[in-house]
Amino acid sequence: MLSSTEFKSIIDVVTRFPTERSCHQYLASRRWADGVMTCPHEGCIGAQAYVFKDGIRYKCKCCKRLYTAKTGTMMEASKISTIKWFISIYMALHKKGISSIQLAKDISVTQKTAWFILHRLRAVFGNEIDVKLEGTIASDETFVGGKNKNRHHDKKVANSQGRAFIDKTPVLGLLQTEVRHYVEREHKIIPGRTVKEKIIDKHAYVKCWTINDTKTASIQPLVRTNVIPGSIVVSDEWFAYKGLNDVYQHEVVDHGRKQYVNDSGYTSNAMECGWKHLKLTIQATHHWVSRKHQDRYVQEFSFRYNYRHLGAQQQIEQAISNMNIR
Ligand SMILES: [Zn+2]
Repeated sequence: MLSSTEFKSIIDVVTRFPTERSCHQYLASRRWADGVMTCPHEGCIGAQAYVFKDGIRYKCKCCKRLYTAKTGTMMEASKISTIKWFISIYMALHKKGISSIQLAKDISVTQKTAWFILHRLRAVFGNEIDVKLEGTIASDETFVGGKNKNRHHDKKVANSQGRAFIDKTPVLGLLQTEVRHYVEREHKIIPGRTVKEKIIDKHAYVKCWTINDTKTASIQPLVRTNVIPGSIVVSDEWFAYKGLNDVYQHEVVDHGRKQYVNDSGYTSNAMECGWKHLKLTIQATHHWVSRKHQDRYVQEFSFRYNYRHLGAQQQIEQAISNMNIR
């Protein structure tokens, strides 16, 4: 683990990692946390290594090949110093992301290199452990990209799949709602007074995918493979959700009737708020995203959303642990 002091700025990140060696030692402590030096080379089951004097390179006692804490991760085979990777992670997660033009200036690399770094990082952000969702899940789709101003409700119009969205790409989002409870506690200043405090038992978690279209065949398999049966699925009245009530409690919020909370009190607002963030990021930072690369941006958005309750330091740790999932 890092020191208990939180990263509040890039200065803190740079101070914590003054040398390439300190970066490597940190990566090694995350990667081989149990002290077993599992060899990263394919086909080798070695679990012991010699350490070189530089504190960076290791030699597997089994296959005799060299490796470092970066071998087999997305940072391998690039001449970019590790501190530049760490700063890039910090920058990419900070606020609403960063463009390759800006990152290139900030870490003194070419724009091509900055683009390469951000591209790799997005793959890392998307490399999450496959969690199944349970509890209450809001499901919603949105259309990203293109030049037309987004009109959310147009997807409900039967013939809107033609011109209106010809340059837009649909995204499906499943958002597991935050689980919380309230406790009463003594007021910190006024004696005898109690206040209600919100305790979050489980943070909201989102999974998103770029999909070909918003038909049943594109939406339902994703819902069914990612949401545990018995959960509550909240959606609007879009036909592609019909039939989910076989294994789920399907709650419909009728947007066509301008309903935002249904009679049982369910809402899909949280996912819609999330879409606003996704679109703002793409518009403000990246201006335009090709269909081919869109899913990367969607995964970056999901990662940032899912770990927004963590401090910068824990977010970096989460990103680094994602690098090790192969
Ligand atoms: Zn080996």
